[in-house]
Amino acid sequence: MEKLIKNVTLNGERSDIVIEDGKIKEVTTDKVDSSSDVYDAKGLLYLPTLNDMHCHLDKHLVGEKWRSLQPFITLPGQLTFEKSLLETMENSVQKRVKIMAELMLQHGTTKIRTHVDVDPGLGLKHLEAVTLLREEMRGKMEIEIVAFPQQGLLLSDSVAVMKEALRNGADLVGGVDPGGLEKRLDSSLEAMFDLGAAFDKGIDLHLHDPGHLGKYTIDRVADLTEQTGKQGKVAVSHAYCLGMLSDDELEDTYQALRENDISIISSVPIDRPMPRLQSMINNELSFLVGTDNIQDAWSPYGDGDLLRRGSRLAEKNGWVTDEQLIAAYSYITSRSLEPVIGEKADFVLVDAQNIQQAMAIVPRREAVFAGGNLIAEKGELLDNCR
Ligand SMILES: [Zn+2]
Repeated sequence: MEKLIKNVTLNGERSDIVIEDGKIKEVTTDKVDSSSDVYDAKGLLYLPTLNDMHCHLDKHLVGEKWRSLQPFITLPGQLTFEKSLLETMENSVQKRVKIMAELMLQHGTTKIRTHVDVDPGLGLKHLEAVTLLREEMRGKMEIEIVAFPQQGLLLSDSVAVMKEALRNGADLVGGVDPGGLEKRLDSSLEAMFDLGAAFDKGIDLHLHDPGHLGKYTIDRVADLTEQTGKQGKVAVSHAYCLGMLSDDELEDTYQALRENDISIISSVPIDRPMPRLQSMINNELSFLVGTDNIQDAWSPYGDGDLLRRGSRLAEKNGWVTDEQLIAAYSYITSRSLEPVIGEKADFVLVDAQNIQQAMAIVPRREAVFAGGNLIAEKGELLDNCR
């Protein structure tokens, strides 16, 4: 059935968007006469929906009573703290993952990559909740799952449970600090890539290790990517080290990342170094953004709004020109900035004059459409979409 979204602001003009079978059929400035389903956008601005490429649906505290956090001192200490906190959660993991996915959806995020904890004690409990959610959200939100041995792949003896996770719905192999946490850099990375090869999956490594340890880890990731033919299927999340060493020191690392098409994914931290955006651009590296810690054992901050995170990326980099503000949006979406005929009708409507203003002021999402269906209005999911 056809649907008409009329009076949408696109390039400073009022346009009408015709949707058929969930896809954009026509965009026109001539008024379309239609007896079909009509939604009047009343001049709101069209923006493509958002991709959150690094989050943890299973570990946030949204909907829980307030928990007092502790300052981060060491990673092992923090992992023990998180583990004990997760054992006291009031909401079931099923409820928890749904709360976060819905929060993201109402902000206009329709594609996510979530890391999901697996270890011998937890088994596949969290993974099962997220794979069920993925079915429930089909058509509204695309969910990629990284099986994530948060306590260390080798350190927590998690290779066997990772295999189970990869047989049961996980799309990527995760890992964390093969040097700093695992203290077995090569064997930990090799175990990740062995899992990737055995199950034909991609890799997404959490790498917090600083300076030259971080750089060496990335260099080894690039070597293994090349050796196993995983070009384009590997990502390094966080990579603080790329913000700690100079571009001269990183020249060969940038080259290895580019040649192996390895993505860098950042949550745009403001309290620690992050990969330099301009260096990512100069070296033609794939750079993606995620919200990561949202009100969890690591951070009391965050609201799951990726547009706000994109705004932070632009502000942190001192981006103020129209060209820069528009470019910033390209890091938080995989879609075209304007509607394209034949593409899935996933978009949001906001009260802003243009993309650059939306990036600067982070307006409420007045409407969110997924596959041409209205799923949220005035910043709230519609009842029939819960
Ligand atoms: Zn993470």
